[in-house]
Amino acid sequence: MQDQNFNKQVYHPLDSVEDVEEFYQAIRREKLTHKLAPERPYCYWTIETYDKSNGIRGGGGLGVLAADMRRVAEQLQVPFVLVTPFYPWESHQRMENMEQIDYHTEKHYQDFGFNFVDTVNIKTATGAVALDVIEKRLGSSRFLCVTEPNFGELYSGESGSDHRLYQEVSLGFGGYKALKLVGCRPGIIQLNEVATFFAAVARLDELVDSGMDFYEAVVYTRKHTLYTNHTLVQAAEATFHYDQFERYVFPNIKSTSVRRWLSDKFTDGMIRLSTPTVEIAELRSGVSKLHARVANYHDINGNKIKFKSITNGIHMRTWTLPEIMDYYHNNNILDKFDLPTIREFEENVNKISAEDIRHLKGLGREKLNDILSHRTDQYGNPVFIPRDAMLFDFKRRFVDYKRPWLPFTDPERLAKILQENNAHYILAGRVHMGDTTMFKKLMDLLHLIDSHPILKERVHYLPDYDEELGLGLSLGANSSINTPIVGLEACGTSWMKDIANMGILISTHDGGVADRPADSYLTVDGKNEAQEVEELYRQMDVAAKAWQNDFDLEYWIHKELIAYLDVISGSRMMRDYLNYLF
Ligand SMILES: *Cc1c(COP(=O)(O)O)cnc(C)c1O
Repeated sequence: MQDQNFNKQVYHPLDSVEDVEEFYQAIRREKLTHKLAPERPYCYWTIETYDKSNGIRGGGGLGVLAADMRRVAEQLQVPFVLVTPFYPWESHQRMENMEQIDYHTEKHYQDFGFNFVDTVNIKTATGAVALDVIEKRLGSSRFLCVTEPNFGELYSGESGSDHRLYQEVSLGFGGYKALKLVGCRPGIIQLNEVATFFAAVARLDELVDSGMDFYEAVVYTRKHTLYTNHTLVQAAEATFHYDQFERYVFPNIKSTSVRRWLSDKFTDGMIRLSTPTVEIAELRSGVSKLHARVANYHDINGNKIKFKSITNGIHMRTWTLPEIMDYYHNNNILDKFDLPTIREFEENVNKISAEDIRHLKGLGREKLNDILSHRTDQYGNPVFIPRDAMLFDFKRRFVDYKRPWLPFTDPERLAKILQENNAHYILAGRVHMGDTTMFKKLMDLLHLIDSHPILKERVHYLPDYDEELGLGLSLGANSSINTPIVGLEACGTSWMKDIANMGILISTHDGGVADRPADSYLTVDGKNEAQEVEELYRQMDVAAKAWQNDFDLEYWIHKELIAYLDVISGSRMMRDYLNYLF
């Protein structure tokens, strides 16, 4: 029931092999078909995937990105394998008497169309663990997953714990064995963050074990491994002890030279996985221009690591109202690859009329209300946003740097903006399990809303933020608020969903938003937080007034689409990766 709206999104794969050749030619990579093939695919390793319709729930943007990479690969017919765990458990939240309750549900891969392939073994110091290898093929792409009943859920246990290391070892070594099992040899390995590092070790070890000279094997592995970083500070990364490696990692490595190489990466008996990752991956990328510039990583000799910037994109056909996608295609704004058209792109965007925008947003609002009808707010009631009301939204994981509380700094001011403009405000979020600080901040917010008659009527909190809510709010909200502390968002993708669906973005100049000039959207800046709050309220007023005035509405929607459609396009992201890799 819950999945229905999401699954309704249909894929329009490209028509023919000629189309694929044309795409490769369009990105000037004619020979790509020789580098990537079904048995030599693009292999994308990730500890997190966010694809509910395929039974795998993630935690946030990292997982959404992985799912979208696969969807884009499927659409563009790129041979692609997503190697990821299938978690037998997932965590959820609901509200009861204004309290947030965590609960867990069990998942069975058989229910999501996965096929059992075989088992592979992972060794530990005291024995072996058998992992089930399961797969699901979708066009040129496939999910290849490892799982077992005690695998647990995503991010269970502390970071740096034995269980996390066990999950990462299973994904790396187990996933690599799984790849062999289904007859594939990686054309390229992309490591989506360092939790996937052991996939590169497995490859290196295989090469050395099969007789290749150690240094040659290192060079070979380096050339074919891309490490994508999403984090800003190396210091924030988990550390593991040498004895944890003795128990979980070393038993899986056959070659003594590989083991020695890895042992040398410990300092005072501790290791951060980024240290060996940057050595084994010659290709390294960050996820926005700003992030690639400011990510502060050093190699073992203290030299700063350079990252190539490849800004995240979204799979547009998943996250955009189908009627809006048709509109972009029919009006020659996007081509059949979902890339902005080369000629007349700006002219065509500038022809979008306020009437069309309002009509399409109206359809989006209907879809949002469908979704809201089976979700509940902090009081346990479904929410309905009238067609003629303006809707602001703030939807993200509740983490401090994203500042979900910012618009509530001056409750009277917020109430006035909402009431004067007949506006509602939806706050959708998810507190990371065990984050007691953010949980308390959320509770304080909910009590504040409860105590204020206008806010109580117009502000709705929706727990258990997930893809369905992310999609629904992008379709149906008029203006979205994105206010990370500048410098702390690596990229962010929910703002992309909002722009793709013709919403007006109010944002700090951070992450992928900062790929384009600050006058491309309603920017929130200031020397300190008080000034930012002031700007935020001012821009909320500007957004509300723009929706009451055709000229301003067209001005902002045109500006955003011209600036960001190519940034947003997942096909652009795939093109950038392929260009960097080959
Ligand atoms: C799009 C999406 C994200 C990405 O969020 P950012 O805060 O922009 O990184 C996270 N979670 C869900 C459920 C999403 O749909």
